[in-house]
Amino acid sequence: MTLSGACECGAATYTVEESALHVYACHCLNCQTRSGSAFAEHAVVPGGAFDCTGASVEYERIANGMHFTEVFCETCHTRLYNRNSLLPDMIFLRAGKLEKSQHLQPIAHIWTSRKQPWLLPPEAIPSFPQSPSPEEFGAAVQAAMERGTQ
Ligand SMILES: [Zn+2]
Ligand SMILES: [Zn+2]
Repeated sequence: MTLSGACECGAATYTVEESALHVYACHCLNCQTRSGSAFAEHAVVPGGAFDCTGASVEYERIANGMHFTEVFCETCHTRLYNRNSLLPDMIFLRAGKLEKSQHLQPIAHIWTSRKQPWLLPPEAIPSFPQSPSPEEFGAAVQAAMERGTQ
Protein backbone atom coordinates (compact mmCIF):
# COMPACT_ATOMS: atom_id res chain seq x y z
CA MET A 1 0.00 0.00 0.00
CA THR A 2 1.13 3.52 -0.75
CA LEU A 3 0.95 6.22 1.91
CA SER A 4 1.07 9.89 1.06
CA GLY A 5 2.25 12.87 3.02
CA ALA A 6 2.46 16.60 2.57
CA CYS A 7 3.97 19.71 4.06
CA GLU A 8 1.80 22.14 6.00
CA CYS A 9 0.86 24.27 2.97
CA GLY A 10 0.44 21.31 0.59
CA ALA A 11 2.90 22.55 -2.07
CA ALA A 12 5.21 19.55 -1.49
CA THR A 13 3.75 16.05 -1.43
CA TYR A 14 5.26 12.63 -1.28
CA THR A 15 4.37 8.97 -1.45
CA VAL A 16 6.01 6.03 0.25
CA GLU A 17 5.61 2.27 0.11
CA GLU A 18 4.20 1.32 3.50
CA SER A 19 5.74 -2.16 3.41
CA ALA A 20 9.22 -0.64 3.12
CA LEU A 21 8.68 1.85 5.94
CA HIS A 22 10.05 1.46 9.48
CA VAL A 23 8.92 3.99 12.08
CA TYR A 24 10.92 4.60 15.24
CA ALA A 25 10.97 7.19 17.97
CA CYS A 26 14.25 8.92 18.79
CA HIS A 27 14.57 10.57 22.20
CA CYS A 28 18.10 11.96 21.71
CA LEU A 29 18.82 15.56 22.66
CA ASN A 30 19.44 16.54 19.02
CA CYS A 31 15.95 15.37 18.09
CA GLN A 32 14.45 17.13 21.11
CA THR A 33 16.21 20.36 20.18
CA ARG A 34 15.55 20.20 16.45
CA SER A 35 11.87 19.29 16.86
CA GLY A 36 11.23 21.41 19.95
CA SER A 37 9.35 18.41 21.27
CA ALA A 38 9.90 15.42 23.55
CA PHE A 39 11.05 13.11 20.77
CA ALA A 40 11.12 12.76 16.99
CA GLU A 41 9.02 10.18 15.17
CA HIS A 42 11.17 9.10 12.24
CA ALA A 43 10.36 6.76 9.37
CA VAL A 44 13.20 5.24 7.39
CA VAL A 45 12.59 3.97 3.87
CA PRO A 46 14.81 3.03 0.89
CA GLY A 47 15.04 5.85 -1.66
CA GLY A 48 13.47 3.63 -4.33
CA ALA A 49 10.26 3.31 -2.28
CA PHE A 50 9.87 7.08 -1.89
CA ASP A 51 8.82 9.83 -4.28
CA CYS A 52 8.55 13.56 -3.55
CA THR A 53 7.16 16.32 -5.75
CA GLY A 54 6.93 20.08 -5.33
CA ALA A 55 9.46 22.84 -4.93
CA SER A 56 11.90 22.22 -2.12
CA VAL A 57 15.02 23.75 -0.68
CA GLU A 58 17.99 21.83 0.72
CA TYR A 59 20.68 22.64 3.18
CA GLU A 60 23.66 20.71 4.40
CA ARG A 61 24.86 20.22 7.93
CA ILE A 62 27.43 18.10 9.71
CA ALA A 63 26.63 16.47 13.05
CA ASN A 64 28.24 13.56 14.90
CA GLY A 65 30.74 13.17 12.04
CA MET A 66 27.96 12.62 9.51
CA HIS A 67 26.92 14.80 6.61
CA PHE A 68 23.17 15.49 6.48
CA THR A 69 21.11 16.89 3.60
CA GLU A 70 17.90 18.38 4.95
CA VAL A 71 15.00 18.98 2.56
CA PHE A 72 12.22 21.50 3.25
CA CYS A 73 9.16 22.78 1.39
CA GLU A 74 10.24 25.95 -0.41
CA THR A 75 7.06 27.77 0.59
CA CYS A 76 6.22 26.84 4.18
CA HIS A 77 9.60 25.41 5.27
CA THR A 78 8.10 22.25 6.70
CA ARG A 79 10.93 19.75 7.08
CA LEU A 80 10.15 16.99 4.56
CA TYR A 81 12.96 14.48 4.92
CA ASN A 82 16.69 14.11 5.17
CA ARG A 83 19.46 11.90 3.91
CA ASN A 84 22.81 11.18 5.57
CA SER A 85 26.26 10.10 4.46
CA LEU A 86 26.22 6.93 6.59
CA LEU A 87 23.16 5.45 4.82
CA PRO A 88 23.03 7.40 1.54
CA ASP A 89 20.38 5.15 -0.03
CA MET A 90 17.88 5.72 2.77
CA ILE A 91 15.33 8.51 3.25
CA PHE A 92 14.44 9.67 6.76
CA LEU A 93 10.93 11.10 6.96
CA ARG A 94 9.08 12.68 9.84
CA ALA A 95 6.35 10.07 10.35
CA GLY A 96 3.81 12.51 11.80
CA LYS A 97 3.32 14.07 8.37
CA LEU A 98 2.08 10.84 6.79
CA GLU A 99 -1.62 10.20 6.31
CA LYS A 100 -3.01 7.71 8.83
CA SER A 101 0.05 8.30 10.96
CA GLN A 102 -2.01 7.19 13.96
CA HIS A 103 -1.83 3.65 12.55
CA LEU A 104 1.95 3.66 12.27
CA GLN A 105 3.46 2.17 15.39
CA PRO A 106 7.12 2.76 16.20
CA ILE A 107 9.04 -0.50 16.04
CA ALA A 108 11.60 0.83 18.52
CA HIS A 109 12.35 3.66 20.89
CA ILE A 110 15.99 4.73 20.72
CA TRP A 111 18.15 6.97 22.90
CA THR A 112 15.83 6.33 25.84
CA SER A 113 18.72 7.32 28.16
CA ARG A 114 17.81 10.91 27.19
CA LYS A 115 14.01 10.59 27.16
CA GLN A 116 11.76 12.89 29.14
CA PRO A 117 11.13 11.29 32.56
CA TRP A 118 7.32 11.51 32.23
CA LEU A 119 7.33 9.53 28.96
CA LEU A 120 7.06 5.75 29.32
CA PRO A 121 7.46 3.82 26.04
CA PRO A 122 5.30 0.66 25.82
CA GLU A 123 7.10 -2.30 27.39
CA ALA A 124 6.29 -4.55 24.40
CA ILE A 125 8.31 -2.33 22.04
CA PRO A 126 12.11 -2.73 22.01
CA SER A 127 13.92 0.25 23.44
CA PHE A 128 17.60 1.12 23.40
CA PRO A 129 19.46 3.51 25.70
CA GLN A 130 21.42 4.83 22.69
CA SER A 131 21.48 4.02 18.97
CA PRO A 132 20.94 0.30 18.27
CA SER A 133 23.37 -1.55 16.04
CA PRO A 134 22.09 -2.47 12.56
CA GLU A 135 21.63 -6.02 13.86
CA GLU A 136 19.61 -4.82 16.86
CA PHE A 137 17.47 -2.60 14.63
CA GLY A 138 16.94 -5.56 12.27
CA ALA A 139 15.80 -7.68 15.23
CA ALA A 140 13.33 -4.93 16.20
CA VAL A 141 11.95 -4.95 12.63
CA GLN A 142 11.61 -8.74 12.83
CA ALA A 143 9.84 -8.53 16.20
CA ALA A 144 7.38 -5.97 14.79
CA MET A 145 6.64 -8.25 11.85
CA GLU A 146 5.95 -11.10 14.26
CA ARG A 147 3.61 -8.87 16.28
CA GLY A 148 1.87 -7.96 13.04
CA THR A 149 2.47 -4.24 13.52
CA GLN A 150 4.79 -3.75 10.59
ZN1 LIG B 1 4.70 23.72 2.12
ZN1 LIG C 1 17.54 11.58 17.61
